[in-house]
Amino acid sequence: MHTIGCPSAVSGAFDLAVVGAGIIGLSCARAAALKGLRVVVIDRDSQSSGASVRNFGFVTVTGQERGAEWTRARRTCAIWEEVAQQAGIPILQRGLWMTTRRPEALPILEAFLATEMGEGCKLLSRAAAQARCPELVNGQVQAVLSSSIDLRVESREAIPKIAAWLAERWGVQFLRQTAVLSVAPPLLETSRGVVQAGAVVVCPGDDVYSLYPKRIARYEVTRCKLQMLRLADPGFRLPSTVMSDLGLLRYPGYSALAEAAPLRERLEAEQGEHLKHGIHLIVVQSADGSLIVGDSHHYAATQDCFADEHIDELILDEFTAATGRSPPAVRERWLGTYSAAPDRTMFIDAPARDVRIVMITSGSGASTGFAIGEEVVTDLFGGSA
Ligand SMILES: Cc1cc2nc3c(=O)[nH]c(=O)nc-3n(C[C@H](O)[C@H](O)[C@H](O)COP(=O)(O)OP(=O)(O)OC[C@H]3O[C@@H](n4cnc5c(N)ncnc54)[C@H](O)[C@@H]3O)c2cc1C
Repeated sequence: MHTIGCPSAVSGAFDLAVVGAGIIGLSCARAAALKGLRVVVIDRDSQSSGASVRNFGFVTVTGQERGAEWTRARRTCAIWEEVAQQAGIPILQRGLWMTTRRPEALPILEAFLATEMGEGCKLLSRAAAQARCPELVNGQVQAVLSSSIDLRVESREAIPKIAAWLAERWGVQFLRQTAVLSVAPPLLETSRGVVQAGAVVVCPGDDVYSLYPKRIARYEVTRCKLQMLRLADPGFRLPSTVMSDLGLLRYPGYSALAEAAPLRERLEAEQGEHLKHGIHLIVVQSADGSLIVGDSHHYAATQDCFADEHIDELILDEFTAATGRSPPAVRERWLGTYSAAPDRTMFIDAPARDVRIVMITSGSGASTGFAIGEEVVTDLFGGSA
């Protein structure tokens, strides 16, 4: 085989070309590189600026959909441990504190703990939680589901570090500021010439129109917009990532349990405005003590670029209700978008024998990506993950 007009930044033919340098593209690149394959990652931007660096960096196991999604999250969490250690990425927080303040939440937590998903989790009384973190646990808190298995990294630092580690340790080549215009292995047409690769994985994030738009449209993909805030250091350390009652309806690991119905009914009556805007609370803490707080969920084919102050007020209102504290000063605000589908958390589509489209259609790519990367590479090249 020979390379036609290969961009000067890369050389030769590759076993695998990955389109997209977000967490999903990097996960596929990692899995292929570990098998000894020659890999190129191509991205139209000079640095990652999609969902993968806009998220909480919360690698969530607890609460993921029961079955395959939960299993992928367990595997992905284990890989994050390895990658973080090798790529010099600090794990800033461990575990989850689901702080609940309504009695209807307790049966959900107890039912959850009775399933296999309760592994690594336990229930804390208000007194036990207060003893652990008095600054966070106010008189409204009924109980806390405490998990030890989730992780948190600072995505805006972690994603560039994974890319650098893949390049330096595993010889993965990166072709940035290069849009992929068409895919037909062994050739990819890019904005900087033709790249040659035996197989291709397209991981385009929320770009549902550039490559394989008809294939992607089959999954009824739309886009979800989220509002996010960074608050100043509150002056104490969180024990873990923190969520509240609203999260019990958002995450299918809890919300699919029969015991969730009474809480849903109560939240619809008491927090209808939050539910209307898809708001639930996640609070994570960074190395400098600052907090990332979110989020909201609005769905449309094309999202506007405007952040609504009312939404931020609702998020901060839930912060106050859950923690009993006024929110510290806002330091940053940003929007993020991800692909969303009505009936699935992700898909792997095969438009040709040597091509896969991988799209996460829920807010879980940081939590499931490494496992999905292994599945995709095994599917294309055989062997075990
Ligand atoms: C605000 C927010 C909070 C979230 N919080 C969490 C969380 O805490 N935990 C969690 O697990 N998940 C979370 N998610 C979801 C998670 O971030 C996503 O599922 C994940 O980042 C998707 O990764 P990706 O690689 O598919 O997409 P992206 O990160 O969007 O990357 C796609 C890349 O493909 C490139 N690209 C697309 N088309 C082309 C082309 N034709 N040519 C060249 N390059 C192309 C783009 O430039 C981009 O760099 C959150 C998402 C958001 C938005």
